[in-house]
Amino acid sequence: MIRTFKADLIITNDGPPLRNGFVEVNSEGVIVAVGEESSSSNITEVEGIITPGFVNSHCHLELSHLKGKVKERSDGMAGFIKGLFAERFSSSNDEILQAMMLADKEMYEEGIVAVGDISNLDISLPVKQKSSLYYHTFVEVVGQDPSKADSILEKALALCDEYIFSTKGNASIVPHAPYSMSRTLISAVNKNAFHKSQPVSIHMQESDDEFLFCKDKSGPLSDFFLGLGLNIRLFDNISDACPMLNTLPLLTDCKPLMMVHNTLTTAAQIDIATALHNNLYWCLCPNANNYITGRLPHLCIYNNDELKVTVGTDSLASNHRLSILSELKTIAAAHPEIPFERLIKWATINGAEFLGIDKKFGKIKVGMKPGLVQIDNLNVENLVLNEKSKSKLIGYRL
Ligand SMILES: [Zn+2]
Repeated sequence: MIRTFKADLIITNDGPPLRNGFVEVNSEGVIVAVGEESSSSNITEVEGIITPGFVNSHCHLELSHLKGKVKERSDGMAGFIKGLFAERFSSSNDEILQAMMLADKEMYEEGIVAVGDISNLDISLPVKQKSSLYYHTFVEVVGQDPSKADSILEKALALCDEYIFSTKGNASIVPHAPYSMSRTLISAVNKNAFHKSQPVSIHMQESDDEFLFCKDKSGPLSDFFLGLGLNIRLFDNISDACPMLNTLPLLTDCKPLMMVHNTLTTAAQIDIATALHNNLYWCLCPNANNYITGRLPHLCIYNNDELKVTVGTDSLASNHRLSILSELKTIAAAHPEIPFERLIKWATINGAEFLGIDKKFGKIKVGMKPGLVQIDNLNVENLVLNEKSKSKLIGYRL
């Protein structure tokens, strides 16, 4: 059965937005027609606007059971990680599973169709097997001791294969962050990426604590690692340069490579990074930044078409919801000068391109199956979001 949706505005990411446009989808959710005038007699009028389905570029589904359990803005990054460690393994497997299923369902209902999901374990596998969403699993590696790099990578390769063979989605191995990894392990991930040509992400420049630890192994992260009994003398990714510019030369074969968070990243650093690496994406997760450190990235430096920006929710340990619209509201409230259409691009096609799924997702175009999102309770004339703006998926089959 063909369904026809009509709205005051349709943002397709395939040409200019359509005023009073229509879009037709078949029973599989594939776009069969899109344009300005439909001859269909069976049209569903949609309040507000229609956009392609959202792509959540950075999530940690396996932390969903930690919703509300890690205190907001509790003593910076080190305080957050301490809280996370204290709670992470205090729930039963069943509670963890139920929380992931609920989070998956909420993402779907909010209009998210594809997710780049960080996993350290295989616990999210059964949820991904049954999900209506597309998942690219980022199997994450961590380890400050260079001598353990090979065994860490070997385990991660096995987990990566498990996700590839058991889910409909894809998987790749990714480094956690500059402060948690030896240069040997980062280089090992890079070597693996060279052979796989898969997207890679890394948490980057999220806090002052990270800068301090990467500079001379001082600060609250140092105290935290020592408290865990780690031998931080072995950690070798230290430099006066900022963590990103110190680490990036080790990741040149990771293409595409997505920097996640960028809370402290500056325009000058981005210029140097772009010269060092020609396939970078910049993922913004403003609500998580607010939750952990109370600071937003310098969002104005991303307001151009040269940088490939994506949007992520991070996890329910560091966010109240897994909602891309909620992230867009935060960005728009802080920087109303960023054009709405650009925000939609960040939330849809850019993430799809990064995950390598842009032949299916990210555009409302005949033959693609992007999922359709309705955003209502917004100013359609000026395209301004407000607190009451809502998103939901329409015309997409389970
Ligand atoms: Zn994260």
